Amino acid sequence: MSKKFECVRVVIRCRPLNDTEKKDGHVCIVNMDTKNGQVTVRNPKVADEVPKQFTFDQIFDTQSLQENVYNQTAHPIVESVLEGYNGTIFAYGQTGTGKTHTMEGKDDPPTLRGIIPRTFDHIFQRIENMAKNKQFLVKVSFLELYNEEIRDLLSKNIKNKLEIRENPDTGIYIKDLSKFMIENPQEMREKLLHGRENRAVGATAMNQDSSRSHSLFQITVETNEIVQGQSHVTVGKLNLVDLAGSERQSKTHATGDRLKEAININQSLTTLGNVISALVDNKSQHIPYRDSKLTRLLQDSLGGNTKTVMIANIGPADYNFDETLSTLRYANRAKQIKNEPKINEDPKDAQIRQFQEEILNYQLKVGEV
Ligand code: ADP
Ligand code: MG
Repeated sequence: MSKKFECVRVVIRCRPLNDTEKKDGHVCIVNMDTKNGQVTVRNPKVADEVPKQFTFDQIFDTQSLQENVYNQTAHPIVESVLEGYNGTIFAYGQTGTGKTHTMEGKDDPPTLRGIIPRTFDHIFQRIENMAKNKQFLVKVSFLELYNEEIRDLLSKNIKNKLEIRENPDTGIYIKDLSKFMIENPQEMREKLLHGRENRAVGATAMNQDSSRSHSLFQITVETNEIVQGQSHVTVGKLNLVDLAGSERQSKTHATGDRLKEAININQSLTTLGNVISALVDNKSQHIPYRDSKLTRLLQDSLGGNTKTVMIANIGPADYNFDETLSTLRYANRAKQIKNEPKINEDPKDAQIRQFQEEILNYQLKVGEV
């Protein structure tokens, strides 16, 4: 198969002004020209300053619907994952701009469901409609990264810190991370809810500021296709990432002590920015993936074997001007990252063969693998 590069796809989503902002007399400084993918931001502090303009593949204005955001960002990635590609969907942006709304949303009414729950139905619908000569094994895991510590949101003991390890054959993995085999969308929803509860309980117990944590919901789809009596295995991994709030990041154009402080606040988010800069700066030889756990876990999503979409969330209000501008600049840089996605064929860690008997006999039971 020939090498095929493709850039990280970057889209912008702007949430509406909320009631508090309206009550406080804040005004909208963001203009979204959805037809041409152009976002314009006016500086509320300097009346005659030329507005800043950015162009993206696609932008979603304050009226955008969860369903459309899904169809135009996540849908093609999920299709690719079912073919055996890796896919990543990131939500980036200041706290309160709609990252969790975009990734998880609300269950009720169903129109407000976000990307993660929508992937569940999509994956199982496609599996049901696939040819009968294919078998599937679907697994999920859910983790949180806070202050450079990894916690398993589906484990019985979420206070345990997990370690990143590297296997020469299969690459980076997290030791002891629980993975659950899933048979239907309802079971997946239960895992999402369970992890979400654990996250909230853990954050309170450990006195964490939840805007400073990253979450990663990972779905692995293994496929076994019998072609002329031969089995052909592909494995696609889907990373669904709700990043920590970026607001402190923009205040880190600092050096010395202030830089150190910023790095301590969120080394993973700082490093993500550094990795993006290094990837798009042709002069950089060294990409600092190893400087944080987030970038180590998502190394393949940035400059590697993954199809990646970054959703950069912004707020419309005047008092968020600096943050909004900083997010748009960050997103603008990320557009230039080149990935090299390929179908993962016969990976050494594929489990579907060992489970094939059970799958064929429909005896697959939910549980830890
Ligand atoms: P973040 O995860 O980035 O901190 P949230 O997703 O929690 O932000 O959103 C903050 C608030 O704004 C929530 O009450 C959410 O329901 C609301 N919100 C975010 N985006 C939208 C949107 N596009 N339309 C309507 N409400 C939104
Ligand atoms: Mg959030």
